[in-house]
Amino acid sequence: MTNFNTIRNIYCVGRNYREHAAELGNDVPDKPMIFTKPTHALISMDAEHVTLPGDQGGIHYEGELVLHVGKSYTPGISVDEIIDQFALGIDFTLRDVQNEMKKKGQPWLPAKGFLGSAPITGFLPFPGAAALEQTDFQLLKNGESVQRGNIQNLIFNLQTIIDFIAVNFGLGEGDIIYTGTPEGVGPVQQGDRLELLWGDQSLGSITIKTEG
Ligand code: ZN
Repeated sequence: MTNFNTIRNIYCVGRNYREHAAELGNDVPDKPMIFTKPTHALISMDAEHVTLPGDQGGIHYEGELVLHVGKSYTPGISVDEIIDQFALGIDFTLRDVQNEMKKKGQPWLPAKGFLGSAPITGFLPFPGAAALEQTDFQLLKNGESVQRGNIQNLIFNLQTIIDFIAVNFGLGEGDIIYTGTPEGVGPVQQGDRLELLWGDQSLGSITIKTEG
């Protein structure tokens, strides 16, 4: 099981793949768009199932590469020095709620921070940013590949994200960063099984239960 006890802040990057921004009809941002989730949103991808709100409109999966910060940020520190582990995760989003929040100009928390909204696999040692680009990640829904991503295609690369978060919000040991989702996001419903692959290696899977 993933040990969450040492995880501190959960940062997430919105609209960090061009094709994904396009599929939702969003402009490509000119600086990283950062939001956070409460640590209570975390759930291990080793769990049997995750219970999600069933009465708040569409729930979308967003498969993402997740970085784990190993030490305090100091100006000039490189990705390879500050990141010690990585994982894959899902940034669950209540899409109808989010659209409503956007219209009203309200914070995204109800759409992004609900319980169970941050499934995460176990962490692997960080091989360096260049080595990460050699491998695609995939999200499978009921055994079928629905998202495939590679951090080569990030709008804001890992170094830019790390520097931006650190300077504006602070970054230290135990923080994790969901780096954004590639195109192919879509709805889940009761009984769907989601699985995350690193290359052809499965890092974890979970079944959706809805309630309410
Ligand atoms: Zn996301």
